Amino acid sequence: MRTQELADTNRELREQINERLRAEQRLRHQARHDGLTGLPNRAHLQERLDDAIARASGRGGRSFAVLFLDIDRFKLINDSVGHVAGDELLVECSRRISHVLGQDDIVSRLGGDEFAVLAEGIHDGAEATRYAANILRAIGQPMWIEGREVYPSASIGIALWHPRYRKSEELLRDADAAMYRAKRLGRNRSELFDEEMRAEAMRLLDLEADLRRAIMHDAFEPHFQPIARLDDGQHVGMEALVRWNHESRGLLTPRDFIGVGEDSSLIEQVDWLMYGHVVSSMADYPTQYMSINVSPRHFLSDNFADRMLRMLDEANQDPRRLRIEITEVALIEDAPRALRILRELRNHGIAAFLDD
Ligand code: GH3
Ligand code: MG
Repeated sequence: MRTQELADTNRELREQINERLRAEQRLRHQARHDGLTGLPNRAHLQERLDDAIARASGRGGRSFAVLFLDIDRFKLINDSVGHVAGDELLVECSRRISHVLGQDDIVSRLGGDEFAVLAEGIHDGAEATRYAANILRAIGQPMWIEGREVYPSASIGIALWHPRYRKSEELLRDADAAMYRAKRLGRNRSELFDEEMRAEAMRLLDLEADLRRAIMHDAFEPHFQPIARLDDGQHVGMEALVRWNHESRGLLTPRDFIGVGEDSSLIEQVDWLMYGHVVSSMADYPTQYMSINVSPRHFLSDNFADRMLRMLDEANQDPRRLRIEITEVALIEDAPRALRILRELRNHGIAAFLDD
């Protein structure tokens, strides 16, 4: 009797252990795969990439390429036919990419509408570009989604293995940069990461670091351009234009740094430093108004008007002597909010002008 009981307990225990092992396996799988498409996820791909780098770095190692792919205009699908349809499109694209992969290659969903392919045995740009063309062709076949025929497309950036690469992130970063160029050049195409892109990326990285330092030390100054009344030529106001007194390059105009500033969101901090200078200069030109440029991004933050009014108040300056110049874009992005802000400014006497 006792032996029978013992055997039963043993069997139960074994079942429990097996169940736990299966659960563990499931969790391990989930941790390495994307829930929607079932593809390997970013962590999984990075492991494989690190392996590929280690192998390629060895003697007689095998070269490879990383293809970074982003679906074109995917938001349109989400916004028109809906998120579920968007999901369907992602799943179908993942199938289509999987079909054209080489035997040892893997495709991963990095997140959103981004995928990356590790293509083994690719030795040069021409081979990689052909590989990308195959993927683009597969993705570009018409697809029926919610009763509509859609023609998906994607943009692909390619980074070829090179001994200077040490980490998977470096390859993904460069392939991503090349993908952006493919987008800029019109989408539905592939671009190779090259030395020129590296130099440009380095230049931008340096410029961004310079900009951060410049913000810390406030290396900005307003350049005032007189505004004259046409009737009698009298100076009635000043338009303040920002200048960056760069440590080694001298005075820079916005054209030299606006791109980096916008991409890194540093431009708002530059603007606020500038507004501070302009407001303190108001005392020097008591009979004229000051005009400042306000970029659309300021209209995305609710406290723009408050902050501006507080600044004027602290400097003891009359808000009626400040004018802001904005572009139409500011009114398009979030019209209700922009109008709220403009109304509050106007209630305090600050007029807004449309630039361009
Ligand atoms: P672009 O050609 O510049 O890539 O335009 P895009 O519209 O594809 O823009 P982007 O790649 O930046 O947008 C990706 C969108 O994918 C943003 C997000 O709303 C959507 N998204 C992210 N994850 C999912 C998801 O799991 N399912 C669905 N349906 N949409 C997602
Ligand atoms: Mg996209």
